[in-house]
Amino acid sequence: MLAPTPVTIEKRGLVLLVTIANPPVNALSIGGGVVAGIIDAVNMGEGDPSVAVIAIRGSGRDFSCGADIRDFENAPEEVDRLRELFSAISASRKPVAAILHGNVLGGGLELALAAHVRVAAPGSLLGMPEVNLGLLPGGGGTQRLPRLIGVEPALDMMIGGMPVPAERALELGLIDALLENEEALEWAVARLDMRGKGDGESRPAAADEAAIKAWRAQIARRRTLGSAREDVIDCVEAATTLDMEAGLAFERERFSRLLLSDASRGLRHAFFAERKVGRLPVGGQALRPVASLAVVGAGTMGSGIAAALVAAGLSVTLVEAQDAALAAGISRIAAAIDRDVAKGRLTLDQAAARKALVTPATGLDACGTADLVIEAVFEDLEVKRSLFADLDRIAAPSAILATNTSTLDVDAIAQATGRPDRVAGLHFFSPANVMRLVEVVRGGATSDETLAASLALVRRIGKIGVIAGNCDGFIGNRIFEEYLRQAYWLLEEGALPAQVDAALERWGMAMGPCRTMDLAGQDIGWSIRKRRAITQPDRPYSKIPDLLCDMGRFGQKTGAGYYLYPDGRTAQVDPAIDAMIVKHSGEIGVARRAIADEEIIERCLFAMIGEGAKILAEGIAARPLDIDVIYLNGYGFPAERGGPMFHADRIGLAHIMSGMARMKGEREGWAWADNPFIQTLVARGDTFSALNG
Ligand code: NAD
Repeated sequence: MLAPTPVTIEKRGLVLLVTIANPPVNALSIGGGVVAGIIDAVNMGEGDPSVAVIAIRGSGRDFSCGADIRDFENAPEEVDRLRELFSAISASRKPVAAILHGNVLGGGLELALAAHVRVAAPGSLLGMPEVNLGLLPGGGGTQRLPRLIGVEPALDMMIGGMPVPAERALELGLIDALLENEEALEWAVARLDMRGKGDGESRPAAADEAAIKAWRAQIARRRTLGSAREDVIDCVEAATTLDMEAGLAFERERFSRLLLSDASRGLRHAFFAERKVGRLPVGGQALRPVASLAVVGAGTMGSGIAAALVAAGLSVTLVEAQDAALAAGISRIAAAIDRDVAKGRLTLDQAAARKALVTPATGLDACGTADLVIEAVFEDLEVKRSLFADLDRIAAPSAILATNTSTLDVDAIAQATGRPDRVAGLHFFSPANVMRLVEVVRGGATSDETLAASLALVRRIGKIGVIAGNCDGFIGNRIFEEYLRQAYWLLEEGALPAQVDAALERWGMAMGPCRTMDLAGQDIGWSIRKRRAITQPDRPYSKIPDLLCDMGRFGQKTGAGYYLYPDGRTAQVDPAIDAMIVKHSGEIGVARRAIADEEIIERCLFAMIGEGAKILAEGIAARPLDIDVIYLNGYGFPAERGGPMFHADRIGLAHIMSGMARMKGEREGWAWADNPFIQTLVARGDTFSALNG
């Protein structure tokens, strides 16, 4: 059977109607023949005397979401094929109309910019999101957009990366009319006189030094790695001084450099990994969508989870043991909804409707009709086991029982029920109504159907579900523990909290480890460490965080942790803690030394990567990209570095292996014990990326 042609051509009176048909998003694929197909169509229209107008539109949901990045992953010169297409459209002797609908993004919008008339359907979205992948519009966008709509709005669109609705695009002059279907075509034919806009392309855009200066200042204030945003500004500035040809050459050079940059590679990996992560084949299918939900425990997490569910339009029964805790949980949910009203994201009516989706209850019997129950009570195995035994009796036999435990054994919880196949972990991150990540924990008995239904629910509430095997800490917290272990030893050996945090934050982490733990609450780690001291006595910890807890310093919630928080949020160095750390080093007989930032970064990262490799070896994570997605979305790992496992490939596994071998001979060297998974990859000359499939 012949492959369906990705571009169809149809004569309608004076119009040559060219339709891009490359599902799912009409990517302007080079390898797939879309680009060549449109060029052929334009040439045909030009050569046919009976054609007065060439109209280009998209089939399906979108006009086009842009280029297919795989076409030029390692070959920037391939983008020239797209540039040829846009030049052919712009230079066409017959007027070309772009008939837009749905998403018109990136290369899709560049195509439209090269056309002579643009008509968009109401509700379409037009945008240049390239900066989110560490790139810039490389098909003439940085030159044509400021010429068409002016420097300031062009910078707003290309630096912000957010699409504008068609209604706004009309105000900006980005489109010429707001019409759809036949009306749009008729309008384009009637406006044949609009030809001539192409001449405007040859002149530079009007200068706007104030806008350029303002954006440069704003970017300088932001802490981003190798940002493409600077390059966007340079290109737009070039558009105000250079003619079109020279401007396009300037843009081409910048685009090629960005495409091969580490930052863009990291961002592209992050983007594609996030799309791949939920598509892990789990065998089973969700038998039916979850219709009714209950959350047990209305504390920090339970109320956050309930808020996330109602934000997606799902109704939820919120069950608590005590009235006061229930009332507090309900008001936390209301406060989260009111914040959305204050930010203009919700109307008062929508807020009221959302609040009405929560049904409060104090008896477990309220879970009797739920298809899925999410437990978020105290982190105590016996409390959870007894609750699950009760739920097993009360809930419908087909219902799924999920636990939000951070560290407890999901199998031990499942075994308290007669339905271990219908028990899974749904590990939300705090604040659960904001954080997009959920670890979906597969217990030893969890069925494929249960896993599929859990993943489907996570997706339905707009979050990213990553499947994790059952172990202490699952994927995210287990790796984080090794990262923290190194950070605390660095404190014992000579660093101070502000240095450790600053080194890792400069490297790109959203927040250093000491500030992170102050935010999360030192008491949580304290109770976990007490438990681990018994279960894992061979893995010693620095006592520094325990000393902090002994002082009643639990972090932001008590106004003091590693730092002081005079205003409740902003960390201020406390000399008393620095002195406590120095004294502790003396007491354990460690001679403090100057520690370079490079050592801090290397030890903390290698610890993450080493534990990540062990997690892969044990099958707790299916692929390195699953670990990357967790770190990018749950732990503030810099997207420009693609995640810990992607970053490991970049610095080289042989280099990491020899670093670990060196550190094995140093203090607490047991933490760097042999890592057969990395050793095997090095021996095979392989990378983590090769395991992503
Ligand atoms: P929390 O103490 O704020 O809330 C627990 C709530 O459960 C309390 O309101 C308590 O009254 C209620 N509760 C206890 N037993 C109950 C029962 N039998 N029936 C109904 N309600 C009951 O705790 P939290 O921080 O929300 O944590 C809850 C769970 O989520 C824990 O397992 C924790 O490990 C996990 N978790 C916490 C975080 C976090 O950052 N706080 C992150 C991820 C997961």
